[in-house]
Amino acid sequence: MRYYVLTLFPDMIQEAMRHSILGRAQEDGKIKLETVNIRDFSHNKQMHVDDAPYGGGAGMVMQAPPVYEAWESVVSRIGHKVPVVFMTPAGKVFNQQKAKELSVYPELIFLCGHYEGIDQRVIDEIVTEEISIGDYVLTGGELPALVVMDAVSRMVPGVLGNETSAIDESFSGMYLEYPQYTRPPEFHGQAVPEVLLSGHHENIRKWRLEQSMRITEAKRPELLKPELMSKEELKLYRKLQQEKEEANKKEANKKEL
Ligand code: SAM
Repeated sequence: MRYYVLTLFPDMIQEAMRHSILGRAQEDGKIKLETVNIRDFSHNKQMHVDDAPYGGGAGMVMQAPPVYEAWESVVSRIGHKVPVVFMTPAGKVFNQQKAKELSVYPELIFLCGHYEGIDQRVIDEIVTEEISIGDYVLTGGELPALVVMDAVSRMVPGVLGNETSAIDESFSGMYLEYPQYTRPPEFHGQAVPEVLLSGHHENIRKWRLEQSMRITEAKRPELLKPELMSKEELKLYRKLQQEKEEANKKEANKKEL
């Protein structure tokens, strides 16, 4: 996977991508990262790339020509067009499914806005996809681009040491991940669940599935889709529904008393 990031703050991107799994993935050549400083394409001596909005209003707007030329510097060098992801609070909200979709491309360009945003004309001309990382407004697109690159990179073959870890975890299937434990076996009087020490793989698998379903039911019930469940999952799901109904009845009885 090759990322090109068009930004006013290249150091922010480079620094954050230098560490841990993403740093190692770059050393191993699984990921290549190139940042392009939009300011290098400024048209004035002061190196400004923003101006006041037409029609008035607060703040400044990033100008179209430097953004366009930063993008052009990439596509003219590599000789072909690449999907351009504009990070914007007005985009479609990012999720694991979108990370998977983006991970199939060999190359991606990220465009990071700043100030009040970017002149619409260049967005219309070069952007292929608009992505938001949530319903809140940040000062710039760098953190959002990093969030997306992090999630996408984990889907790139060979980036995670253990390929199964991306399959098991939250949002990869229908369920949130089961709780994890490591040494020591006892912490502040709390022991690790017995089954995890048993070495019985089938019992551990069943226990993890049940925990995943319980956690999903408690925290994100809308993720549970009975119509997509296996027989085993459906049986567990019904058990959880029954438990819930019984708990609700008990609660209602308590209130009546
Ligand atoms: N005036 C813009 C609006 O109301 O949509 C907000 C501009 S914001 C201060 C500056 C830049 O930060 C945006 O151009 C975008 O690149 C980035 N940004 C801010 N919040 C974001 C979010 N939730 N998701 C993705 N990008 C975001």
